[in-house]
Amino acid sequence: MPSGNSWKDVLRPWVYRMRNTRDRMLGGACTVLLYHRVIDIPSDPQQLAVGPAEFEAHLQVLKSRYRVLTVAEFDHHLLHGKRFPDRSVLLTFDDGYADNHYFARPLLEKYGMQALFYIASGYMGSGREFWWDEVERLLLHRPVPLLLDLQLPDLRLKVPEAGATPNRGDDQEAYASALVQLRKLPGNERDALLIKLRSSIGPAEPRSTHLPMSVEELREFAASPAVVIGAHTVLHPSLAQLPEGEQRQEISASKAQLEHLLGISVPYFSYPFGTGADFSATTERLARAAGFRHTAANYPGFVHARSPQHRFPRHLVRNWQGPEFAHRMEQFAP
Ligand SMILES: [Zn+2]
Repeated sequence: MPSGNSWKDVLRPWVYRMRNTRDRMLGGACTVLLYHRVIDIPSDPQQLAVGPAEFEAHLQVLKSRYRVLTVAEFDHHLLHGKRFPDRSVLLTFDDGYADNHYFARPLLEKYGMQALFYIASGYMGSGREFWWDEVERLLLHRPVPLLLDLQLPDLRLKVPEAGATPNRGDDQEAYASALVQLRKLPGNERDALLIKLRSSIGPAEPRSTHLPMSVEELREFAASPAVVIGAHTVLHPSLAQLPEGEQRQEISASKAQLEHLLGISVPYFSYPFGTGADFSATTERLARAAGFRHTAANYPGFVHARSPQHRFPRHLVRNWQGPEFAHRMEQFAP
């Protein structure tokens, strides 16, 4: 997701590099990988999808050269301050796409591995796309370029000059700008804007390739030994942009909804988007108070026995072929 440039953005890569060097020298760290989707799709502007063949190649590399931990093993080391085994890895997924059930789970089972899946509870069984996918479909996948004068005063999209012909560049700009604006809103305000956007642009069905899990799928999925369920808020906001009460609601309700749907305890959480701008010290306190054992962020780094339990780093994985994945892992691994 795009973000504004500030001095923090400029310094951040250097801070990561220094921390990574320190952790590499100390050893005993775990590489936590972050996936979102396992599926082949023709268009993926957020680069969230890894093809099933590529994902299997990743698992083969991990099987032969690394030690993939179960979630219980990861807990044991992080929560008790124990040195992680050499070349240890934890697999995690965010959001709760149906493809996790149909493509990722069977491959994890085949290789005898387990992953921690953080689920945005409000989308399960909703039959609608995650909000960033819906914005992509509405603004980028139209047969003709959009007329952007949508009469949406709350959503400031670029409108072409009077008399100008709309073009695909306008659509791209509108898409990027909509993502930035919608990310900052509470879920109910974002949903209200999406309804207006939907009715302005015209009816279109959700894409079957982009659906979150149904409740039935989630239940079957959660029953697999390859799957451990965590929470990821209800409607996937950038938590730090919300007042404390709304943050608490998003965090606690996602845990309660998943526990109610599945009849299990859900003691894990990850911050939506997960960059340093998407959660605050208040968010961390709320995650701890909600009863989560640990919470994942989304910036690179290693997890070691002294890592903060409520903002541990993860390495984002892209749709890399096996050899590139192996190369990237060598760069990541402590
Ligand atoms: Zn997410």
